[in-house]
Amino acid sequence: VLQVVGVRKEYGDNVALDGVDFEVHAQEVVAVLGPSGSGKSTLVRCIDQLESIEGGAMYLDGELLGYERHRDGIRPLTDADVKRQQRRMGMVFQQFNLFPHWTVLRNITEAPIKVHGVPAGEAKARALELLNRVGLADKADAHPRQLSGGQQQRVAIARAVATNPRILLFDEPTSSLDPELVDEVLQVMKDLAESGMTMIVVTHELDFARHVADRCVFMADGQVIEDRPSTEFFDAPRSTRLRTFLTRTA
Ligand code: ATP
Ligand code: MG
Repeated sequence: VLQVVGVRKEYGDNVALDGVDFEVHAQEVVAVLGPSGSGKSTLVRCIDQLESIEGGAMYLDGELLGYERHRDGIRPLTDADVKRQQRRMGMVFQQFNLFPHWTVLRNITEAPIKVHGVPAGEAKARALELLNRVGLADKADAHPRQLSGGQQQRVAIARAVATNPRILLFDEPTSSLDPELVDEVLQVMKDLAESGMTMIVVTHELDFARHVADRCVFMADGQVIEDRPSTEFFDAPRSTRLRTFLTRTA
């Protein structure tokens, strides 16, 4: 589904991504782990084209992201084409980023209706079905401030799924939650994974990475240090840096 090839991202003199390569296949769940500042958020932001890249290339379903080839080389896509590509991805952030003045239902149906042209009745039916799946069937008419953080994040996940993305990107979806609300969100993500959703999950939740992710990617200093099936990743880390990271974080 997604290929990331030699991607480089700089902020001034600071190299945030230094030649990152990895792939995500259909229905795969890939966890991205690593110390603070290793480039995890930058990676998902580059994939979603919230940031430009200085080198390398990314492909979604074989289509080059952000650029197009023409006879003299490559050139950036128009904003409209970038938006078209972004519509095929769903993003869930640490801060849920729901619109506070809209009901839960409208937060979920807005993009399908306005951006994807889904008829309102159909979008609503689908939103209610998704709310049911995330255990919030009775909250359709509530406003975000009336919900707990865990509930808001489950709405944000339903919103991301509502547009039928090819891939879902999560950036530390449980990091801003009170500890007792973390599991309800992880459970929703686990259900999504089991339903066959293709996902990249930046997380510090090692149990989730080990038991739900198919593969784990360890990043440090803007590079992928290890990329292995989850069991091997945890049971037989190759690099000293990953071994140290796992002992410290566990
Ligand atoms: P954390 O676990 O703390 O979220 P991270 O792995 O997500 O860390 P990034 O946020 O991707 O790390 O940051 C990677 C590097 O890029 C860091 O050195 C950071 O300071 C730098 N960086 C990130 N965003 C910006 C920005 N907008 N401007 C300048 N530097 C940035
Ligand atoms: Mg981050």
